[in-house]
Amino acid sequence: MPITLLPPDVAAQIAAGEVVERPASVVKELVENAIDAGARAIVVELQRGGLDLIRVVDNGCGIPPGEIETACKRHATSKLASSDDLRAIRTLGFRGEALPSIIAAAGRVEIASRTSATASGVLLRFEVGARRERLPYGGAQGTSVAVRDLFATQPARLKFLRSPATEARTAVAAIEPYALAYPERRFTVSVDGRTVLATTGTGDVRDTAARVLGAEIAAQLLDIAATEDTPVRVRGLIGPPSLSRANRSGIVVIVNGRAVQPRRLGVAVEQAFASLLPVGRHPLAILLIDLPPEDLDVNVHPAKAEVRFRNEQEVFRAVFDAVRGALGPHAPVPAFGLGQAPPAVLTRTDAEATLPARLPGEPPPMPLWQALMHPDERRTPPFEREERSPAASPRLPLLRVVGQTSATYIVAEGPTGMYLIDQHAAHERVLYEQVRRRRAESRIEQQGLLAPVAVELSAAQAATLAAAQAALEAYGFAIEPFGERTVLLRAVPAALGRKDAGEALRDLLDALAEEGTIDDDLVVKTLACHGSVRAGKVLSLEEMRALILQLEECEQPRTCPHGRPTMIHLSAAALEREFRRR
Ligand code: ADP
Ligand code: MG
Repeated sequence: MPITLLPPDVAAQIAAGEVVERPASVVKELVENAIDAGARAIVVELQRGGLDLIRVVDNGCGIPPGEIETACKRHATSKLASSDDLRAIRTLGFRGEALPSIIAAAGRVEIASRTSATASGVLLRFEVGARRERLPYGGAQGTSVAVRDLFATQPARLKFLRSPATEARTAVAAIEPYALAYPERRFTVSVDGRTVLATTGTGDVRDTAARVLGAEIAAQLLDIAATEDTPVRVRGLIGPPSLSRANRSGIVVIVNGRAVQPRRLGVAVEQAFASLLPVGRHPLAILLIDLPPEDLDVNVHPAKAEVRFRNEQEVFRAVFDAVRGALGPHAPVPAFGLGQAPPAVLTRTDAEATLPARLPGEPPPMPLWQALMHPDERRTPPFEREERSPAASPRLPLLRVVGQTSATYIVAEGPTGMYLIDQHAAHERVLYEQVRRRRAESRIEQQGLLAPVAVELSAAQAATLAAAQAALEAYGFAIEPFGERTVLLRAVPAALGRKDAGEALRDLLDALAEEGTIDDDLVVKTLACHGSVRAGKVLSLEEMRALILQLEECEQPRTCPHGRPTMIHLSAAALEREFRRR
């Protein structure tokens, strides 16, 4: 084929592909336009995950009748005049690509707009990328964009979309950071006619956070003290270590009013939390970062989802310091468990010296941690033994528990040396196989709650629950609606033990949302993770023995359900080598 320039409609489709990946991208671009237009109220409506309809209505400045056709063309923008302006961008838009990309990607688009300068505005109607109608528009000042039949022109794209519920959730998740970044503007979002997010526009970030994350969580967030005279200013809210999530979706980063992927700055937040969170848990953080626009390059990503800093180290540092400062008294050096004895390394001699005194049937002395507990709780054996066929062949050598180290690892001895067993990973494996087996045998055990627990959900969590409720109930949850975003938990899977039922439910929903599908295996993994003993908990010898026995009966005792090892083996030969006995 000879080299030719692409016809404009083909070029437009290719460009549209970069900007409009899924319904959430359309929503993001339209909301950014509304913000740039100075709108105080922004209403977003989604039908069937945005595939049937995405409508964004704002009360911003509007588009003059004589410019509206131009606004719909590629590279048309009112936000940049020269390449000099590119060096210090103060608006969210600047590429002039959103409207034409959306028009090229959707079956039907209607843009209606009126400025304060004219009594009548203009309504444009597009079908499969071409303008069909131009009508006078008598609506209120502002702009309304309605996008119907998204990807009707790009059926290949449709194949890559997830379920409407997931697409809706992702779209709402794209709006949330903007609601948080612009608390003085009122955002109203509905999905299939149901309001899922409504901010107040009072200007208070915590108020907005209450709408996005739920009032219960917002009330616990810690303020970041704003620094005034530094080039990089960080404001916002962070969760105390007691509030954490199973994924990074709780970290929202806004730079100069623009929602961006957390990436490196998310790492700065997590480093500031350091050891305050258990492994695999992630903090909640809403970071509003402001810096001179010339120190920021926003022109690096077609969907403007990433930015580059002139001095990334400085920003990283500012975020780290801000989070550390906000954690304040919550950030002591974490001390490992109460009163657990053994030093980091146990030698054979130590073990021999301490063990016989405890082994012959007699219960170990009550450790301090148990003495502090309610007697009822003290009696409950944390690891219940499952009946299992005696035919099962051992997949692990027989292990003798020697002790515990760092309140996290069980030290055990086997025929060929020493084993360190990660108590959390091991228990996760045990519970995982137990729940799977019971599910296969339709013997899921449910644990009724004496008093039902009210659990407040975020908008995204509520949306996930709508799709996942049946699957969760199959595992023992009994969930009832209880107000707009609150549910009542009446029963939970027995595998959860005494763990915080509300937190487990929220985590499950986050995990399912992240995965994008209702995945049975994920439900079991999350239940297992929640039900299992945490690192940092001192265990008695009895408890450790019970756990090891259960692990010995597992089909895959050597890894946790996520594939991490449950144990490390230090062979007798390796020990001899280390001690230069050979
Ligand atoms: P960009 O935002 O990068 O300038 P867009 O294609 O998103 O490009 O929009 C093109 C232009 O149309 C904008 O520069 C702006 O002048 C106008 N425009 C788009 N949406 C709105 C809106 N909601 N309110 C007012 N003007 C708008
Ligand atoms: Mg734009």
